[in-house]
Amino acid sequence: MTHFSFAQVIRGALTGQKNWTPQWPDAQPRASYDVVIVGAGGHGLGAAYYLAKEHGISNVAVIDKGWLGGGNTGRNTTIIRSNYLYDESARLYDHALDLWENLSQELNYNVMYSKRGVMMLAHNVHDVQSFQRHVHSNRLNGVDNEWLTAQEAQRFCPPLDISPSARYPVVGAALQRRAGTARHDAVAWGYARGAAARGVDIIQNCPVTAIRRGPDGRVTGVETPKGFIAAKKVAVSAAGNTSVVMETAGVRLPLESYPLQALVSEPVKPIFPCVVMSNSVHAYISQSDKGELVIGSGTDQYVSYSQRGGLPLIEHTLASICEIFPIFRRMRMLRKWGGIVDVTPDRSPIIGKTPVPGLYVNCGWGTGGFKATPGSAHIFAHTIARDEPHAINAPFTLERFTTGRLIDEAAAAAVAH
Ligand SMILES: Cc1cc2nc3c(=O)[nH]c(=O)nc-3n(C[C@H](O)[C@H](O)[C@H](O)COP(=O)(O)OP(=O)(O)OC[C@H]3O[C@@H](n4cnc5c(N)ncnc54)[C@H](O)[C@@H]3O)c2cc1C
Repeated sequence: MTHFSFAQVIRGALTGQKNWTPQWPDAQPRASYDVVIVGAGGHGLGAAYYLAKEHGISNVAVIDKGWLGGGNTGRNTTIIRSNYLYDESARLYDHALDLWENLSQELNYNVMYSKRGVMMLAHNVHDVQSFQRHVHSNRLNGVDNEWLTAQEAQRFCPPLDISPSARYPVVGAALQRRAGTARHDAVAWGYARGAAARGVDIIQNCPVTAIRRGPDGRVTGVETPKGFIAAKKVAVSAAGNTSVVMETAGVRLPLESYPLQALVSEPVKPIFPCVVMSNSVHAYISQSDKGELVIGSGTDQYVSYSQRGGLPLIEHTLASICEIFPIFRRMRMLRKWGGIVDVTPDRSPIIGKTPVPGLYVNCGWGTGGFKATPGSAHIFAHTIARDEPHAINAPFTLERFTTGRLIDEAAAAAVAH
């Protein structure tokens, strides 16, 4: 594997770019593996990387029905933050934020992590109370989050309209300065390259059609169009398709799958310095390095596997964006797309063992799992390797939906991007 460095770039420039090798081989499945991971998104690829690097388990295959990173990992709006309300969530997302800090160096791959700050707008008394509660709770957990007045919010983000007559008046904002964005494809590619270099097989265009179990109930492997692949352990990281895959092993999950959409504008010169979210009106916005405004909305109201959303939703989102940022009213939108997100009743993920021996699941990230990618992958690898949860994911069990020990970020924020 070529080590990416300044010297390599110069060498390439001087030798007609002939010094680059493929970043990972296109593997074909072997008869058996120690671990098969279903889903080559950031979470699955990352788990394979940490299994090989930290646990010495490299007889691993990551299998995807499409191309790697082609699921929600390559479709999201790349918001990274850790200012969730509950202690369990703060630990989980802040673990990820710590790993984001050095991920480019760790992977020798520029994931373009940009700590530009994420600001959440308060439009009414309820928002103020809710966000100030978040600020206090986050500080107790050592997570940075601060309260801004409307004027301070506008100084941080000049295009923001804070006039009192605005349709959605801004009465303050919560700001996490360590939060920001990263390049989503690069995260998938960086983990894929790092995992493949350590011996992991990445198998694309190969849907897992069933998880097989032996007479003792333990997993034995997975069925695919390329044949049966035996595995001592199977780990599922299939986002919006998780419940379909898990049902083949006889495990029912408390998940609903919804389309979630995003869209980008024509590119313009740098104008938007941070990420702004408005949970009350379900709209959020940032600017990509290419100059496009990246705009996200809420989930569709109805469940679906269609991987594209309804027009009324993004019309509503754009209407809200135009109210909050009148400066963007004449901009043209270039394209929109959707992904299928897997939503749990409490809007917190499920990461851990399942009732089936040898079967593990990492799902339920809903609208907000990109930010968690390195942390989630890290603790999922620990869980798979040791057959027991890491302290951070111990509360995120499947059982919490029967015991009632929910981690109710849905009630806390009404949105969890
Ligand atoms: C429009 C949109 C905006 C978003 N914005 C944000 C954001 O700003 N910040 C944030 O933190 N999160 C955001 N998210 C959520 C985030 O993208 C996801 O939570 C996260 O990427 C999930 O990663 P993953 O690796 O688990 O899933 P994925 O990247 O979806 O990977 C799962 C993989 O499983 C594969 N698969 C499915 N079924 C099978 C099968 N039977 N056999 C083999 N492979 C299979 C799929 O092809 C896919 O590649 C957004 C999501 C969307 C759709």
